Amino acid sequence: MDMWRYDLQDNLRGVEKLFVKITQVNKIVLVGHVNPDGDCIGSITGLGGYLKDCCGKNVTLVVPNEVPQFLKFLSHDMNLYSYNIHKEEVHSALESADMVICMDLNSLKRMDDLGAAIQGCGAYKALIDHHPNPDDTFELVYSYPQSSSTCELAYWIIKELIQIGGEYIQMPYNVALSLYTGMMTDTNNFANSVLPSTFRMASELLAYGIDKDKLQGMVFGGYSESRMRLMGDMLLNKMTIYNNLGASVMVITKEDKAKYNFAKGDSEGFVNLPLNIKDIHISALFTEDDDYIRVSLRSKDDFPVNKLSNQYFNGGGHQRAAGGKLAMAIGDVEEYFVKCLTEFKQL
Ligand code: 5GP
Ligand code: MN
Repeated sequence: MDMWRYDLQDNLRGVEKLFVKITQVNKIVLVGHVNPDGDCIGSITGLGGYLKDCCGKNVTLVVPNEVPQFLKFLSHDMNLYSYNIHKEEVHSALESADMVICMDLNSLKRMDDLGAAIQGCGAYKALIDHHPNPDDTFELVYSYPQSSSTCELAYWIIKELIQIGGEYIQMPYNVALSLYTGMMTDTNNFANSVLPSTFRMASELLAYGIDKDKLQGMVFGGYSESRMRLMGDMLLNKMTIYNNLGASVMVITKEDKAKYNFAKGDSEGFVNLPLNIKDIHISALFTEDDDYIRVSLRSKDDFPVNKLSNQYFNGGGHQRAAGGKLAMAIGDVEEYFVKCLTEFKQL
């Protein structure tokens, strides 16, 4: 299908099944992925808020680990548990759940230990996501890789649920705020993967009274001075350009982290920057963590970094944005990347 003409609103199929299932259940747990981002928190709080406030369901929200401070405002009065901190609460919610809805992930592997807990629970399992190739773990799957974000998908699904229900229910403001936020972050402020329906969604949601300038300030403008200086150091001293491969590599070591008082989320967006260089169409960022190296890959011109990640970096993702994990010495990572990319390009 011609991507340019693709419009999510006109292509949604089978929301009736979800409608019927929702009417049959009471306790619903919505689950997101490890290191939750705006799209993950936006989609579980958005759909969760709708199910709670408009459908009267008992809703619990769960993610595998900590929610970044700048996204906490989206949970409002809902229970949002991090599994690494609230194991008991999560187990108890899963034991009594009628339905689990996983969002913004295509595999239970994207949930670390929480994946096993989800797999083991007896609840009906649904997936709402925009990553390619979903696991076959789920009984009901809404997988739309063309969607700008899971939040956009959730928005059109909620609109369809409202229509099928046959009543006009105004989406609550909090739901609108969550869905707008996740779409805004996953498209990098309307830069990537936007469809005609994405702008339609944005325009409809703004009518709920969302203050988009304030929201942008809260989400994109809350960085520290040290993050800015780390970014400067990376671009000036640590970015290696491989013109023969059309690629850029940056590495953040534990030493860099200590020097710049690194906090979670401080390197957000760094990996996109080298793609602004003419003829650089692949960018890699490697970040040294305690137990492993976090891999972040971006591309332009349709180079499939999800395949590259799947093949060499124990991960996956979207065609132009993917990630993974490596277990090796941080000093060896760049050479490994160059070797893998060279081989991949020759295949
Ligand atoms: P980021 O570079 O922002 O951490 O991740 C970009 C995208 O890559 C995410 O939206 C997600 O789809 C995917 N991704 C990141 N890490 C992993 C991973 O470890 N495994 C898989 N399968 N996908 C990942
Ligand atoms: Mn997403």
